[in-house]
Amino acid sequence: MSDFRFDTKCVQGGYTPGNGEPRQIPIIQSTTFKYDTSEDMGALFDLEASGYFYSRLQNPTCDMVAAKICELEGGSAAMLTGSGQAANFFAMFNICECGDHIVASSSIYGGTFNLIAVTMKKMGITVTFVAPDASEEELDAAFQDNTKLVFGETIANPALTVLDIEKFAKAAHKHGVPLIVDNTFPTPVNCRPIEWGADIVTHSTTKYIDGHGSTIGGVIVDSGKFDWMAHADKFPGLCTPDDSYHGITYAEKFGKEGAFITKATAQLMRDFGSVQSPINAFILNLGLESISVRMARHVENGQAVAEFLETRPEVEFVSYPGLKSNKFYDLAQKYLPKGGCGVVSFELKGGRKAAETFMKHLKLGAIETHVADARTCCLNPATSTHRQLTDEQLKDAGIPAGLIRMSCGLEDKQDLIDDLAQALDALN
Ligand SMILES: *Cc1c(COP(=O)(O)O)cnc(C)c1O
Repeated sequence: MSDFRFDTKCVQGGYTPGNGEPRQIPIIQSTTFKYDTSEDMGALFDLEASGYFYSRLQNPTCDMVAAKICELEGGSAAMLTGSGQAANFFAMFNICECGDHIVASSSIYGGTFNLIAVTMKKMGITVTFVAPDASEEELDAAFQDNTKLVFGETIANPALTVLDIEKFAKAAHKHGVPLIVDNTFPTPVNCRPIEWGADIVTHSTTKYIDGHGSTIGGVIVDSGKFDWMAHADKFPGLCTPDDSYHGITYAEKFGKEGAFITKATAQLMRDFGSVQSPINAFILNLGLESISVRMARHVENGQAVAEFLETRPEVEFVSYPGLKSNKFYDLAQKYLPKGGCGVVSFELKGGRKAAETFMKHLKLGAIETHVADARTCCLNPATSTHRQLTDEQLKDAGIPAGLIRMSCGLEDKQDLIDDLAQALDALN
C-alpha cells in the first residue's frame, strides 16, 4: 500500500486479498492454531519463526488491523490492545521498571494520569509532570538520571491543550530517551506525531478510530527510529538477554524496527493479557475505512459549534484549538493544519445549575462519559466525573462548575447549532 495516498490506505491498507480470498478482512475467531510437528511449534516459541500459536499473543485479524494503523501513522510495527489504558501502560512499562522515572505532560487524560501517578507509583516508577507549554529550560529541569521516557497527548482529553511535539521530542532525545505520544484525539488523519519526532504513538481506538461508540480498544505503533542500543545502559529490558525467552536480546535480534513491539508482545501480552478480540478488530477496521471522511466532518462541526458558542452571552469562554482566541491556536496551525477533532469545551455562566438546565434541554447532545462518537454527546464534569469535588476544588483543578465538554458528532452542523441555541435560550 506504500505507493498509495493516505486516504486510500485508510480504506485498503493492512490486507490485500489474493485470488479467490475474502474481500473483507477475515475474522479468525480462534484461540489457537494447529501445527504438524512439535519442531514447527517450537520455532515459534523460540521466536525463530513468525506465525501464530495462541491468540493471547497474536491473532491474524488483529495483526491486519494493526498493520493498517501502522501504515497510517508511518511506523515500523504495531500491536492492538484491549483498551487505550492497556496501550499506554504497555508502551511505558515496556521501557521502564521499578526504580525508573517518567517525565509526563500534566495535561493528559484522567485515566492515564491515575495510571502514572498512582498505579505505576506502586510499582516503583516515579513521575515529574510538566506543563504542556513548558519552556525548554523547564523541560530540561524535569529529567533525572533514571528518566526513561517522556509522555504527552497531541490534543489532551479533556483540556484540549496542544502538545509542542518537536520541543518535547528534542528534550527527550537530548536526554537519550524516547517520546511517547497519545494521538487519540487527532487520529493519524489530522496529525502523525512520528513525522514530528515522536518515537512511539498510542491510541485509545475506542474514540475516533472506532468512531461509532461500539468497541473498546487500543493500539501501540513504534516508529522503529529510536536506537535502544545507543543507550543500552538505560534500557536493560530491550538491550540485555531476556531469560524468560531463552536469552533473546530484543534490540539485537529484532533491530530498531522490531524490538519494541516484539518485546511488548512476547513479554507483556504474554504475562498481562489485555488482548483485543478478533471480532472487535474487525469492527475497528470498519471505522478505519471511513476515518478520513469522518474526521473532516467532526472538525467542521467542532469548528462551527465553537464559533457559534463564542457569540453567545450565556457562555463565559470557549476552548477549542481551532479558534483564533485560543492559547494553542498557533501550535494547532502547525501540527493540525486540517483541524484537530470534534471536541469543544466551554463554560456556562451560572455554574452547575446552568449546566444542568442546559444539558436537560439538549435534544441531540446526549449526556454520556464518552467522546469521539458519530453521535453528539456532552458531559458536565462537576455533576459527573468530578462530582466529589467542591466548587472551590473544581476551580483549582481548572474545571469550573459550569464547564461542559461537548463531542460534536457527524450530524448536520446547523441542527447542532439550533439545538445549542434553544438550550442556551432556556437559561434566560
Ligand atoms: C479514552 C482515552 C484513553 C483510555 O482509553 P480506553 O480505551 O478508554 O481504555 C487514553 N487516552 C486518551 C487520550 C483517551 O481519550
